[in-house]
Amino acid sequence: MALIVQKFGGSSVADAESIKRVARRIAHTKAEGNDVVVVVSAMGDTTDELLDLAGDITATPPQREMDILLTAGERISMALLSMAIHELDVDAQAFTGQQAGVITDTSYGNARIIDVTPSRIQRTLDDGAVAIVAGFQGVTQFTNDVTTLGRGGSDTTAVALAAGLGAAVCEIYTDVDGLFTADPRIVPSAQRIDRISTEETLELAAHGAKILHLRAVEYARRYQVPIHVRSSFSDNEGTLVIDNDEEGPMEHPLISGVAHDSSQAKITVVGVPDVPGSAAQLFEAVAAAGVNIDMIVQNVSVHHSGVTDISFTLPHEQGAAARTALEAMAAKHGYAEVKYDDGVGKVSLVGAGMRSHPGVSARLFSALYEAGINIEMISTSEIRISVVTRSEDLPEAVRAIHTAFELDATEVEAVVYGGTGR
Ligand code: ASP
Ligand code: MG
Repeated sequence: MALIVQKFGGSSVADAESIKRVARRIAHTKAEGNDVVVVVSAMGDTTDELLDLAGDITATPPQREMDILLTAGERISMALLSMAIHELDVDAQAFTGQQAGVITDTSYGNARIIDVTPSRIQRTLDDGAVAIVAGFQGVTQFTNDVTTLGRGGSDTTAVALAAGLGAAVCEIYTDVDGLFTADPRIVPSAQRIDRISTEETLELAAHGAKILHLRAVEYARRYQVPIHVRSSFSDNEGTLVIDNDEEGPMEHPLISGVAHDSSQAKITVVGVPDVPGSAAQLFEAVAAAGVNIDMIVQNVSVHHSGVTDISFTLPHEQGAAARTALEAMAAKHGYAEVKYDDGVGKVSLVGAGMRSHPGVSARLFSALYEAGINIEMISTSEIRISVVTRSEDLPEAVRAIHTAFELDATEVEAVVYGGTGR
């Protein structure tokens, strides 16, 4: 008998039929003799609809009230799911994040979990019932205000509860059969990954793979919670995200997968004085505008010219803020021009084995060359190589790299059951 945490995303509980289907799965897990804690997201696109609704009322919703509004989505699904489980003659009780003991800081809209005190949940399990918890929400420590954990935050609720309760595994149910070597919507021959380390999963998630909330993986890594990502539409085995098994640390494959991100734009500041402090001033201004930058490239200044160009990538939606900040500095610091380009895409190859394996970059660059794709920027970590291309070249770049590293399956195995990837 094990304690299992099961998390169901919005596309798995999109309507009454789906909720009943999920309830049957939960009842089945329970009937097999397990203790079950369920974390549930808002039905379908509920969260987006609530955001739109607030937008119809005001352009500047107070953050505290916004979080109260958004937590309503998960409260609807938790109550309905609990009712559906009762229909199957299994005892279940639904709880808000607050009732479940998810304590957060006060950053509305993107709160961080600081403690989990799931005694109420434990009692429910001890009584033999299934506990259903509203995902994506918590409560502040001293003021008891409701907070949300950021978009996609139900994954993090699930992992945090799994850690807090000492669960054997945290199962994350979604609309695909697990993590794939590339997005099956772009690479139909992508293969399901059986097992992957948290380190590689973090790199994939940080560079565009939409399957797991980044913070959930960070949490799982810190508390060593095994995550099993699988489909709620099939009984197939999914992907185990885990660092150690009974035999100790797992062996790493050379390459785990290819992620892509089409949500990035590129800014190039032309004619930055090539003197100490220039980059500091530039990026301080960008940071002060609240912009999250990713890749940075600075050219060596042409001999004796005394100026250089600095390019960096950032999320599309922060483009305007970054441009405004930099244009305001242009005259004072002598920048020749601030260029903005949102026609870029980023492809990233991830694999812990590349640490100790030469030739990976060369193979990647050759694959892009053979596909006739130009590289605009390159950045690397120990276990990742990322390349910026034109956005229209991105799908082909992903496929070319996937093929070059022999990741293609011989038979198509990726099934996309529905939804939009969450
Ligand atoms: N319902 C929230 C969202 O759509 C949280 C989640 O789905 O994990 O972002
Ligand atoms: Mg959602």
